[in-house]
Amino acid sequence: MNTETTAIVSKLLDSPKKIAIIGHKNPDGDAVGSCLGLQFLLKQMKHQADVVMPNDFPEFLKWLPGCDAITIHEKATERSKAILEVADVIFTLDFNALNRSGDLCPILSESEASFVMIDHHQAPDDYAVATYSDTTMSSTSEMVYHFMSALNKIDLLTKDIATQLYTGIMTDTGSFRFAATTAITHNVIAHLIEVGADNASIHQNVYDTNSQDRLRLLGVALKNLNILPEYRTAYITLSQNELDEHNFKKGDTEGFVNYALSVKNVVFAVIFIENTQEAIVKMSLRSKGDFSVNEFARSHYNGGGHNNAAGGRSTKSLTKTVSEFISILPSYKDALIHDS
Ligand code: 5GP
Ligand code: MN
Repeated sequence: MNTETTAIVSKLLDSPKKIAIIGHKNPDGDAVGSCLGLQFLLKQMKHQADVVMPNDFPEFLKWLPGCDAITIHEKATERSKAILEVADVIFTLDFNALNRSGDLCPILSESEASFVMIDHHQAPDDYAVATYSDTTMSSTSEMVYHFMSALNKIDLLTKDIATQLYTGIMTDTGSFRFAATTAITHNVIAHLIEVGADNASIHQNVYDTNSQDRLRLLGVALKNLNILPEYRTAYITLSQNELDEHNFKKGDTEGFVNYALSVKNVVFAVIFIENTQEAIVKMSLRSKGDFSVNEFARSHYNGGGHNNAAGGRSTKSLTKTVSEFISILPSYKDALIHDS
């Protein structure tokens, strides 16, 4: 975090404040871990700090220290409105455009609180008085660690904060294997473990909680895997029926797209997930090397994210969405084929 941003944040936090901490819609491990870590820090600094999420977060995160006190806007709208109404400062974490906050967006847009952004996605919007944006970072949770350091508050790192931040970094880096994982990330992780983050049990809590339904749904996803070698592309579809047959719960499809990306020579992978309730097809896009799924998702699917991991959506039917996707690929053939 640069000195100017540090100075603005230090000034904002130099007296006790009412603070709301917001994560993005469909919060993942990084959103939940970073928001909780920041909340536990700010409370120690004598601020009143509440975490508000637009909608619920996955079961596999429901053991994190402090997660029971998270306000879910979709379930507790009055409480979340009350928190946001009195907030002096609003931190937005793991997203950089207010429309990523779902139904909280209109409330945030109207708010007169001072906004602080901590985020690692590309192309941040300009809504905050302090923007800590770094697209080279592995995760927002790693940034919360650096934020603590910049404010000279690393002494306040507790076992709980270490656990929350470890979980965010682990989930966003695919257990420390994606390209954005650096030596500095590993230094941060080493410190988190020193302070008490129990790496083995965190890993088990997050990844070893498969239900039979989820594994069978993975079986369906793998059966539906399609490979287009001429574009070094692979995709998976899941229809609403297939989800229903396996009692789909939020988070169940997390990581499925990585199986498509793991196919030899494939550099671009997409999973298309039908959501009849929202009348959309949700897409998760992943790539290896230089092919930017962020640009692809922005250009065609009203989405975005990072170079190698992005999301988007289509309002067409599942079949139409897939056939359109295939029809777009020829214009990216050079980029896909020449990629390493
Ligand atoms: P996922 O595929 O896991 O939902 O998302 C992959 C990455 O892209 C995450 O970092 C996520 O925050 C981001 N992302 C997902 N959907 C969107 C979207 O609609 N817009 C933007 N800007 N980013 C997204
Ligand atoms: Mn993240």
